[in-house]
Amino acid sequence: MIDSPLRERIVATARRMNALGINQGASGNVSARVEGGFLVTPSGLPYESLQPADIVHVGMDGHATGHREPSSEWRFHRDIYATRPEAGAVVHTHSAFATTLACLDRSIPAFHYEVAFAGGSDIRCAPYRSFGTQELSDAAIAALEGRRACLLAHHGVIAFGQDLDDALRLADKVEAMARLYWQAIQVGEPAILDDGEMARIVERFRHYGPR
Ligand code: 13P
Ligand code: ZN
Repeated sequence: MIDSPLRERIVATARRMNALGINQGASGNVSARVEGGFLVTPSGLPYESLQPADIVHVGMDGHATGHREPSSEWRFHRDIYATRPEAGAVVHTHSAFATTLACLDRSIPAFHYEVAFAGGSDIRCAPYRSFGTQELSDAAIAALEGRRACLLAHHGVIAFGQDLDDALRLADKVEAMARLYWQAIQVGEPAILDDGEMARIVERFRHYGPR
């Protein structure tokens, strides 16, 4: 099958999302860019029974090829690949703490320097739109401006990266930040790091990690 190793990596990433505890059941979805489009998890299929052949190819024109229906969220996956050339993979989850904040229409401010992993001084929350709609995709693309992750009000999280591991790592980091922020606001209002410091951290993260 064409792109078979990538299909296997998408299946592994979807299962890993559940193993990390950042998603539940069949909610959420995962995709990776290929020439002329992307490969995405099918709609509504539990990840335990997901096979590489279930992964659906979607062209940039929205045309889907495969024996399953593509994720209902194929529009925001497509629009991220269309507008963000640096995106190689997209992970969408309903992780518990990030979704709790999203249900309160709260963005995650710069209460901790690692918020900068998402690309800037906050992780914005896009306004609520129905799942699977172009309106949701438009809201997400706006909230992702200058960022690699956002919350979706009353819904969940989107994170993208240069590849599947990178996107999954960021989705996990967003959940960790959401959990810390949620814990902090049980006790008080944390001080917020200023934009100059967050810009310096974003720059340092460009060169951070093993080389
Ligand atoms: P799909 O199963 O269609 O990918 O939808 C899950 C989801 O999270 C919708 O937002
Ligand atoms: Zn969702």
